[in-house]
Amino acid sequence: MDSSHDQHPHDEHVSASVAALVAAAVRDVPDWPSPGIGFKDIAPLLADPTAFSAVVAELSRAARASGATAVAGIEARGFMLAAPVAERCGLPFLPVRKAGKMPPPVLHREYELEYGTAAVELRSDLVGAGDRVFVVDDVLATGGTAEAACALVTEAGASVAQVAVLMELRALGGRDKLPGLDVLALLTV
Ligand code: AMP
Repeated sequence: MDSSHDQHPHDEHVSASVAALVAAAVRDVPDWPSPGIGFKDIAPLLADPTAFSAVVAELSRAARASGATAVAGIEARGFMLAAPVAERCGLPFLPVRKAGKMPPPVLHREYELEYGTAAVELRSDLVGAGDRVFVVDDVLATGGTAEAACALVTEAGASVAQVAVLMELRALGGRDKLPGLDVLALLTV
């Protein structure tokens, strides 16, 4: 029942106390927003200054260790985690936004959803060759969103320093969509 220590081998360096804080502060909402989905609600974690600060500190340590030169957050919950990490590390923050929200110049990437497609965009004037981007989101599920975000980073001429998420839903196999990339999950369930 207690899955807080059920972490991926690559995540051994994540402090057990941070994993436990994430496990305690993220709320599981069964059958929302639709039947069969187990929604991971990070709002209680964001509303808990101790847990939020510990998560930002852990992600900042990872960002520095990865040699990142920029921190990208995936809209919208990725913004909430990535922006304080960028600020704490003294690095540029790059929003990976849903299509149509940012003025040009943008790079555009479509990806598959269970039903239909979605698209994300990255400003091409703010990142480029020589950059190493630390890509942040809240949840890694099927991996399509993170894969698209990383493709944008690569298309911009930069490289992915690490993909970091609060929670990885292992059964959905998101890591398989990110071959060759370093993926850090603070908690794997
Ligand atoms: P995926 O592309 O399937 O890896 O889905 C990842 C994106 O969808 C992330 O931006 C998450 O915010 C969101 N997401 C997917 N599944 C969940 C879930 N069970 N709970 C909360 N957010 C989710």
